[in-house]
Amino acid sequence: MREKLLPIFQESYRELRPRAPMPELQVEFFAFANVNNTIRLRDGRLLVRVSDLLEGAPETVLRAIAHILLAKMYRKPIEAAHATRYRRYISSHEIANKANQVRQLRGWKKFQTPRGSIYHLEEVFEDLNQRFFYGLMARPLLTWSQLRARSSLGHYDPAHNAIVISRIFDHPQVPRYALEYILYHEMLHLKHPVRLRGSRRCVHSPEFQAEENLFPQLEQAKAFLRRL
Ligand SMILES: [Zn+2]
Repeated sequence: MREKLLPIFQESYRELRPRAPMPELQVEFFAFANVNNTIRLRDGRLLVRVSDLLEGAPETVLRAIAHILLAKMYRKPIEAAHATRYRRYISSHEIANKANQVRQLRGWKKFQTPRGSIYHLEEVFEDLNQRFFYGLMARPLLTWSQLRARSSLGHYDPAHNAIVISRIFDHPQVPRYALEYILYHEMLHLKHPVRLRGSRRCVHSPEFQAEENLFPQLEQAKAFLRRL
């Protein structure tokens, strides 16, 4: 696939600029956080990066990308057929989904923050760690969600060893015990790991539930969550 990329760009260059000398071309697949393609001219060399999400794309789509990038570079009109072919391909379901997943993974570091405007998750974590776990729990990544999600109040993400808490809890009208309860619940998921079976994401064993019942404001917290 990679070896196919260079001749595609060379042929596309030739079509666009039949008489111009062929510049040195460096073409590679690159792990952008999204479907993205770039072209630069540096010291007479053309440097091209094509999103690695397009590595499996059909040759016609790669030809479309080559045409679009080179046309852009040399200010030539972009042929409609190429533009359509490219757009159609990246908006196809599979690529859009893949891009979404990759964006989430690669964008992870950029968006994570334990510091809210009201509550700091690391501070709340360490407090709970002392009160319930003898300070023995290794701190995972802690982050507020990007969106004020109601569908997921909190979750433990084993792939990133991270606990994500919905931003709706970072609010002056949210009592600290409600946030503590959500975080405590996720900390118990760290303490009681489960083998995932099928799509069951949240498994609460009897031991898990017994330990959850140790949370002093459990009933108040649950009542607060019901009112959300
Ligand atoms: Zn759970």
